Amino acid sequence: MLDNLTQRLAKVVKTMRGEARLTETNTAEMLREVRLALLEADVALPAVREFIAKVKEKALGEDVISSLTPGQALVGVVQRELAALMGADLGAAASQLNFATQPPAIILMAGLQGVGKTTSVGKLAKFLRENHKKKVLTVSADVYRPAAIAQLQSVTEQVGADFFPSHSTDKPVDIALAALDFAKKHHHDVLIIDTAGRLGIDAAMMEEIAAVHTAVKPIETLFVVDAMVGQDAVNSARAFHDALPLTGIILTKLDGDSRGGAALSVRHITGVPIKFSGVSEKMDGLEAFDASRMANRILGMGDILALVAEAQKNMDVSAAQDLAQKMKSGGKFDLNDFKAQISQMKKMGGLSGLLDKLPAQMQQAAAGANMGMAEKQVRRMEGIINAMTPLERAKPDLIKASRKRRIATGAGVQIQEVNRMLAQFEQMQSMMKKLKGGGMMKMMRSMKG
Ligand code: GDP
Repeated sequence: MLDNLTQRLAKVVKTMRGEARLTETNTAEMLREVRLALLEADVALPAVREFIAKVKEKALGEDVISSLTPGQALVGVVQRELAALMGADLGAAASQLNFATQPPAIILMAGLQGVGKTTSVGKLAKFLRENHKKKVLTVSADVYRPAAIAQLQSVTEQVGADFFPSHSTDKPVDIALAALDFAKKHHHDVLIIDTAGRLGIDAAMMEEIAAVHTAVKPIETLFVVDAMVGQDAVNSARAFHDALPLTGIILTKLDGDSRGGAALSVRHITGVPIKFSGVSEKMDGLEAFDASRMANRILGMGDILALVAEAQKNMDVSAAQDLAQKMKSGGKFDLNDFKAQISQMKKMGGLSGLLDKLPAQMQQAAAGANMGMAEKQVRRMEGIINAMTPLERAKPDLIKASRKRRIATGAGVQIQEVNRMLAQFEQMQSMMKKLKGGGMMKMMRSMKG
């Protein structure tokens, strides 16, 4: 969806290579590309306008540090502002649901048909049961599709939560109130209400869900939206936002081809945080939304997590465990690890499968259907790392001008290439920092299992 953005940015980075700093003129040129790409990707115009204005303001005040070209520096600004647009400033708090109410805390799910509402109810019930030790009841107010009620029952049973049966002859408001009554009597902490979606925006549907909202006064009203759809996501977000006081968004199907264009607009239009993302059809496929990671994905900077997960499938388990142990004990992902990752990657028979997940610069190298070029770039990176001492690999901060010169000579490359490689590594390292929590361990477990 936003492939164009990646390509356009890569192009600008390339054409700006000869320039020493960010100026009005070269920034304007780059921003034009960004603007076009976002519009092509169906991002809503007001969101694009606001975004471009912010990036411009930040870019002109940006100090271009010596290791970056102006183009790379601008991409950095775009990355940070993209993340901010999607709510990076909210941090972890954004994915916390509000339970500050007399139990049961009611969560109302809203969204069009097929976006993943029912699936998300199941995932959320599992998440609340396992991570928050909540007693959860679910109910379906979708009286139009008996299959929808059965589907909710099935996912609810799968995750071990309680299900309140409803019938297609009942009225949605009555169903919701009866479930609330039941939840109170049986001391449920949370009641999740699934609602009927339609294929498109429909006044009757809006009235119905608004009536349910008025009747039960949910503490969370979550708008579920499919990351794969473009302008439709914008329109439905607007309609639901107008009809209901939304408190958060669940962005589903992020495991698909989508680059997440919807994330850009829905946050802007509704003004509410994206709290969770759906990353598989399975019940454990729900994650706290990570705006910064999404920005990287949109920019094609490489979904390092995916890259690492892929590499680990082919990695011998002891090496993977060593890395996991190191991260767990607060260790830093260093160039030795990076080196190991690269050599693992080489073992994996061909770059093509991995290409999508690689940083934009490397994708760019391979763009002209020139896989050999990309392989060559990886080999050069490896050559640079090999020219370092183990101490330098463990403490890249030590690598100052004279060491850089020695490394460049040793690897037979220009000093700028060493700089680029180090900048890229820093990006990767900051991604890895986020893994230090449970992420890495979880990944390892799923790998072994
Ligand atoms: P609803 O009509 O909004 O209740 O949508 P459903 O929950 O029935 O989901 C519609 C389809 O999307 C189903 O096939 C789900 O398995 C699938 N789905 C839901 N969430 C995700 C997700 O995060 N990733 C993927 N790949 N599929 C999903």
